This record gives sequence, structure tokens and C-alpha cells, in this order.
Amino acid sequence: MNDLQGRIVVITGASSGIGAETVKILAQHGAHLVIGARRVDRMDALVSELGNIEGQVIVKQTDVTKQADIDSLIRTALDKFGRIDVLINNAGLMPLSFLSQTKVDEWEQMIDVNLKGVLYGIAAVIGPMKLQQSGHIINIASIAGHSVFATGSVYCATKHAVRALSEGLRQEEPHIRTTVISPGAVDTELPNAISDKRIGAATQEMYQQAISATKVAESIAWTMAQPANVDVNEIVIRPVSQS
Ligand code: NDP
Repeated sequence: MNDLQGRIVVITGASSGIGAETVKILAQHGAHLVIGARRVDRMDALVSELGNIEGQVIVKQTDVTKQADIDSLIRTALDKFGRIDVLINNAGLMPLSFLSQTKVDEWEQMIDVNLKGVLYGIAAVIGPMKLQQSGHIINIASIAGHSVFATGSVYCATKHAVRALSEGLRQEEPHIRTTVISPGAVDTELPNAISDKRIGAATQEMYQQAISATKVAESIAWTMAQPANVDVNEIVIRPVSQS
């Protein structure tokens, strides 16, 4: 994918799972990356693992619940490279529970990371991308943004919201390509945040069929590699066996 050579990409949630795999693929294809998450040690290890690559990868500690952190992440890319071609809003949490368990703290975390974090990302890049008259915003939603399941009410609500605001962005900003990636079960650390043991065990069982994060990362890279006049609006990617 030579088309990725020299692209300036910012990605959140780069310390594990889909984010880390995406960093690997994009860096191997010559993109320049500014990568954010809270766990800097994991991102540093990822960069070491990349070895010799053409592109540069800059690590920046980022908590997406803090608007100032995301602004600083984007500013780092603009200061270093002078423009920003792609923002991948990937950071997310999935502490599933029944509403009756009233795990309000976890509801708030999901709203803060999965929804407000994405909005802060959009807020930080929309001005620069409008000035450039180009850009690409890729939001990681989920098949949980297409349907609802018990224990997933709040998670699904955040992912439905990500799809809704992505469609609004697409309609409002014709110069900015807008892509939603909606995966099914992907083999990552995502279920680890489930605090209820029974729900956690049931989810881990369901995740036996999960696809690898590399496949999702490849789909992200593919949308980026399309010609500038092609806007891939959504990819739904899941295990064949997942209903
Ligand atoms: P992981 O748990 O492996 O990765 C989640 C990433 O989000 C980590 O890098 C984590 O970094 C980051 N993150 C969490 N909270 C914050 C925060 N406050 N600030 C910055 N970064 C944060 O899971 P996945 O790779 O699976 O998740 C990536 C995305 O994919 C999420 O949006 C998720 O909802 C979505 N998704 C995943 C599916 C799956 O089955 N795995 C299916 C559908 C969608 P750190 O903790 O270092 O901050």
C-alpha cells in the first residue's frame, strides 16, 4: 500500500489491541504516526518492536477523557509535520453489566472514553482539516452500534452514538473523509474491563471465536489507501460464526 507512504496519522488507544496492530501496519507502510494512550510503557515497547521503519512514530501519553490531552496530541502532529491527514479515534472500553447493577461509574467511563473522547478528537482536528480542505476521520464503533444486547446497553448506546455523529460529520464536511469501522468480536484486551465475573466469563467464552486485531487493522489501512475521491463510510467486520 504505497499510498500510505508519508501520511500523517494520529491514533488513540494505541497501546494494545486494534490500535497497536494498526500502528504496526501503517508504520510498515511508511506512514508517520503520533500515537496516544495512557500506558506509555506499552507504546514504547510497541515502537521498539517496530524496528527499522521508514516512517516516524511519536509516543504521547494521552487520556482521551481530557480534552487538553487530545488537543496536545493533535498539536504534536501539527507542530512536527505541519498537517494531519488521518485521525483514528480508536480508544474504547467495554465494562458490560446489567442496568440493574447500577455500575454508574462504569457507565460514565464508557461515555467519557467511547463517546466524549471521539468528540474531543473531532473537535481538535476539524479546524485544521477544514483549513487543509482535506482529511480523514476514522471512528471505531462496533456491531454493538448496529444492535443491542443485554449487559451492553450503555456500551451499545455509545457505539450507536459514534455511528450517528460520524454520519453527521460526513454530511456536514464534504472535504473530510469519514469512516466508521464496526467490528464484531476481536481478540484483544477489551473484555478485561468487565468487573462482573459471570458476565466476564460468558464474554470470554463468546470471544473464543474472535478474529485477530490484524484483520481489523488491515481494513483500516485499506480505507486509508483508497483514492482521495473515495470515501469508505463503514466497514462491518466480524467472525463468520458471530450472529
Ligand atoms: P483494547 O482493550 O486492547 O484497547 C483499548 C485501547 O483504548 C487501549 O490502547 C487503551 O489504552 C485505550 N484507552 C482506554 N481508555 C483510554 C483513555 N481514557 N485514554 C486513552 N486511551 C484509552 O481493546 P480493542 O483494541 O479491542 O479496542 C479498540 C476499539 O475497538 C475500542 O473502541 C472498542 O470499543 C472497539 N471494538 C473492539 C471490539 C473487540 O471485540 N475487541 C469489537 C468492536 C469494537 P490505555 O489503557 O493505555 O489508555
